[in-house]
Amino acid sequence: MRPPYMRIPYTDVLAAPTIIPRSATALSGALAAVHEFFIAPSLSSSSSGTRPSIAVLTGAGISVASGLADYRGTNGTYRVNKTYRPIYYHEFLHNHEARKRYWARSFLGWTTLHKAKPNATHFAIKHLNDLGLIQSVITQNVDSFHSQAHPSLPTVELHGYLRSCVCTSCQEELPRDDFQNELARLNPTWAAFLQEILASGALDTENPDEQRARGMKTNPDGDVDLPGAQYTQFRYPACPRCLVNPPLTENGTRATVEVDSDGAWAPPSTAGILKPAVVMFGESIKHSVKAAADKVVNDADKLLVLGTSLATYSAWRLAKQAKDQNKPIAIVNLGGVRGEDVFFADLDPSQQGSQGARVEFSTNELLPALVDQLRQYPSVQTAHTTSNYIAETHETSVFKDMLS
Ligand SMILES: [Zn+2]
Repeated sequence: MRPPYMRIPYTDVLAAPTIIPRSATALSGALAAVHEFFIAPSLSSSSSGTRPSIAVLTGAGISVASGLADYRGTNGTYRVNKTYRPIYYHEFLHNHEARKRYWARSFLGWTTLHKAKPNATHFAIKHLNDLGLIQSVITQNVDSFHSQAHPSLPTVELHGYLRSCVCTSCQEELPRDDFQNELARLNPTWAAFLQEILASGALDTENPDEQRARGMKTNPDGDVDLPGAQYTQFRYPACPRCLVNPPLTENGTRATVEVDSDGAWAPPSTAGILKPAVVMFGESIKHSVKAAADKVVNDADKLLVLGTSLATYSAWRLAKQAKDQNKPIAIVNLGGVRGEDVFFADLDPSQQGSQGARVEFSTNELLPALVDQLRQYPSVQTAHTTSNYIAETHETSVFKDMLS
């Protein structure tokens, strides 16, 4: 049996990309190349005569315009905060203190994330689907923007989603909003502070000086320094289902689930721990999710990669899988992509995008323009002619731990 695919940070420096075709260094050339990628007939004979089926693989880069930090971009987490270290699954699972700190940070960051909206890239993907040009999406993002922008376009959320919490014992899911309300109830001092800093706008900036001026002091680790409220005293709820009916353990005995007088998970407990429904670093991706992502790649004729350095192996191997199946790949990303040479090594030097493309532009700059171009293209049916992109931009940021 193959080992599970685990989510592990990849921290090597990525080489600058080679732009393909060479004419794609200018925006007009990049547009032409990706346009060619979209309309060129599929190489596989099975779909000759029909429009190629294109799958999209997205990453943190496409959510930057919504105010979320990516990892390796100009203001990416790994560049801005050199000491940044995401929480690991085993740490979350086995360390009550680590969970307190995680949930305290998450409690303060949730409202900002909740307010953030999909941007022009997500809506361009919707429009490309409306035009019959994109059939499915795989995303590494946990922000739920895809499902908000294009609920009818099938999307595999490879690394889960923050909109829910999931019990690590019984797998019960509950809405993150409800969990947030419980955190507020269990931590009234924090809840009052959150209202203050929301009102002052301290969460609308990542600049520590501006944050301090708006009433929020952070220490060098990025932790909020809140007088009268300690991370060590932060409380979080237990899984309501496990509390009522403690699960059986592996050796057949009944697990212990205890709460304090207010309902907060208490340390003697051996089960009922809720975690965000995301795949944490060091955690395996569920087999069903991995199989769904594999199927998307297998069923597609081409793969369009947007806003990701493919630094996570679970995402990189999907692109490799497409390549191994001789499917053209186009990558739109600011900055290098892990091992990208392998995707383009055997292309005909004179091809203009039909076999593959590598361009370095913001997806928010390129994709809406691409949609407009493709709408004008004779063979692309223009069933939907509205071209109103909802370009929501937020100059906000959220605590990075939430996106891990
Ligand atoms: Zn449970």
